[in-house]
Amino acid sequence: MMKTNGFRAFLLCTLFFSCVISVPVSTVYAETREDIRKLYKAGVDYIVDSNFEAAEAVFKKIIEAGYEFAEAYNNLGYARMKLKKNFEAIFEFKNALRLNPDFADALNNLGLLYSEKMSTAQMGLQYLKRAVETDPNNANYHDSLGVGYHRLGFIKEAEVEFKTANLIDRTLISPVYNLGYLYETNDRKKAAIAEYLKVISMRRDHLMANYRLFKIYSRLDDKPLMANYLFNMFKILRNVSKVDKHERTAVENEILCNLKAFIVEVAINFNAEIKKMTLIDKASPTGDKETYIAPSEYLISYEEFSKKNLFYFFEGTELRCPETGKYYTNYINHVICPVHGSLSVFTARVHDIKQIRFNYHKNICAECRKMLDYALFLRAIDHPDEKLSSIGDDEIRSLVESGYLRDLPNCPDGGKFLTDENGFVKCSMHGASN
Ligand SMILES: [Zn+2]
Ligand SMILES: [Zn+2]
Repeated sequence: MMKTNGFRAFLLCTLFFSCVISVPVSTVYAETREDIRKLYKAGVDYIVDSNFEAAEAVFKKIIEAGYEFAEAYNNLGYARMKLKKNFEAIFEFKNALRLNPDFADALNNLGLLYSEKMSTAQMGLQYLKRAVETDPNNANYHDSLGVGYHRLGFIKEAEVEFKTANLIDRTLISPVYNLGYLYETNDRKKAAIAEYLKVISMRRDHLMANYRLFKIYSRLDDKPLMANYLFNMFKILRNVSKVDKHERTAVENEILCNLKAFIVEVAINFNAEIKKMTLIDKASPTGDKETYIAPSEYLISYEEFSKKNLFYFFEGTELRCPETGKYYTNYINHVICPVHGSLSVFTARVHDIKQIRFNYHKNICAECRKMLDYALFLRAIDHPDEKLSSIGDDEIRSLVESGYLRDLPNCPDGGKFLTDENGFVKCSMHGASN
């Protein structure tokens, strides 16, 4: 789930805040009111320029100078929230609310932060509701409340809030995007596409909308449209200065995560093969060649996977999701990240790999059957009186011992060799040669 969307809207609120300092100056600091007013304006400018380190320093300085007011705390919290210092950000929003309990921006921000974590999402929703109650005509607050509802799985309520936000302010992109994302996560692809297209009509170079469309079309396996949106994404990403740093990170992380998940999936597939080969080696020629691997053995967590150290080639590259650090697989549904899922454009390849492997094994098996057929044919010439109804493991071994076969034939998939009604060798796994 994208975490950055809900926050974007807030920027405007910060912008239009008037810089009134109504706090009695009871300090010995050298800064004059005029200095502080200039500082405050610089801090807001830094936020607009997404320079959150600088904004944090400025608002911290203002507060330390003794100018304690709710807006400064709120902006300090906002800068820290953007710097992912969530714990400190919560502290500052609470400071803002201590000075002004009905400060809607702080209610909104605190609510959004709490909504990020499942354990505090319920509490977050209460703050978001209070922000809307305080200022029902603010589209941003409805948008945030929608995010809060979505996080908790209240789909209908979230939809209403995003639509309300859109009615209040038609120019606001965030609720349109968030509505698209709500539809997408509820498997309403068509409706999601419609919303994302609206976003792009509002802002052509909207990275996330292009990215979501790319993901949807990759799931729909529509290669031309997929390529179209992927191309757009790269065009947008190339324009370094115009892309929001956090959106870029979100997109890059997800692509990176999907790529790594794919590598892990391929590695696990190879691991399964190695396992099978070891099982065949261990099995005695007389015993059952049990090569079945229980589905649970394919279940793997990243920790297990990394312990196995399958490829030292990848040692320097951490095969972890950049955000969650986790992958899961049940083999059938591919290796997926709990947050980023998987990208079918990659995982579809795994099927190809399985197919190639399958064909390769089938060919080895066919070669073995040819050898066996030939050996049986030669022995039949030498011993025309011996009538053979079917062959078993003992029979095959005796063919080796009497020199008709050089090596014991082995089906790579563990199939058993038998003779069919016409006396030709067939495999229990791969059938007969035609
Ligand atoms: Zn991930
Ligand atoms: Zn076979």
